[in-house]
Amino acid sequence: MRAEVLIDWFDEHGRDLPWREPECTGWGVLVSEIMLQQTPVARVLPIWQEWLKRWPVPSALAAESQGEVVRAWGKLGYPRRALRLHAAAAEIAEKHGDVVPSDVDTLLALPGIGAYTARAIVAFAYGKRAPVVDTNVRRVVARAVHGAGDAGPPSNTRDMADVEKFLPAQDAPAAKFSAALMELGALICTAKSQRCADCPLYADCAWQKAGRPAYAGPAKAVQKFAGTDRQVRGLLLDVLRGTEGPVEQAKLDLVWHDAGQRSRCLDSLLVDGLLEQTRDGLFALPGEH
Ligand code: SF4
Repeated sequence: MRAEVLIDWFDEHGRDLPWREPECTGWGVLVSEIMLQQTPVARVLPIWQEWLKRWPVPSALAAESQGEVVRAWGKLGYPRRALRLHAAAAEIAEKHGDVVPSDVDTLLALPGIGAYTARAIVAFAYGKRAPVVDTNVRRVVARAVHGAGDAGPPSNTRDMADVEKFLPAQDAPAAKFSAALMELGALICTAKSQRCADCPLYADCAWQKAGRPAYAGPAKAVQKFAGTDRQVRGLLLDVLRGTEGPVEQAKLDLVWHDAGQRSRCLDSLLVDGLLEQTRDGLFALPGEH
């Protein structure tokens, strides 16, 4: 894989996203990375803009109540991410002078920051050399380098070593290469409808050369949403997001027909700290009673 080919492609075709602007702070990049983990760009954009306007530095978010942060997370899904960001913001404000750290080890010590996010911040916020590996990158490497139809199960060490081999030696081009590889996986080498004719790696792609073999690894879990606990949890949280104070159980009972599933989901929201129960049995967003 030739880095300069991919970088040229990215210069021409990469999307203009606000967290890619040079003036975007480390905090802006961190918020974008957490939001983008499980949510598409189009849904993240308006919420990211709202958050950065409202909480331009970590200490501003940390000063907010957990409940308000969960409410502002809106419909991004997987709302535990909002609480993790809130916790990370508090630690950055308290221990790092309100500035997102710029080295992998310090970032990894923050709550909710894993191998991918730490390296993404180092590369995208601070322009440093670090192997950034997400699902999109793993798929591109599996195809272009290993000639497989898709990536197998993830392994942090192996996947990062794979990408490391192609990273340019200098910080700035390495950081751009990382962004370019992710972008190629998001726009061109997609899971189901890869656009090989538009791909800058076409001439060297091992998957093309091998005659486009089908994926032969273990079956992948298909994520469905309708009828799942994830949907029911979202509906329950929606009730609280739409009100100012605590609500009665009866109001929550209206959102889902299956009492067993509803109660399981309510319990799990309490365990996750996304909801709290008041002394008189009402339900509220954390800190809002
Ligand atoms: S040529 Fe096709 S399969 Fe190969 S990297 Fe490009 S988009 Fe992916």
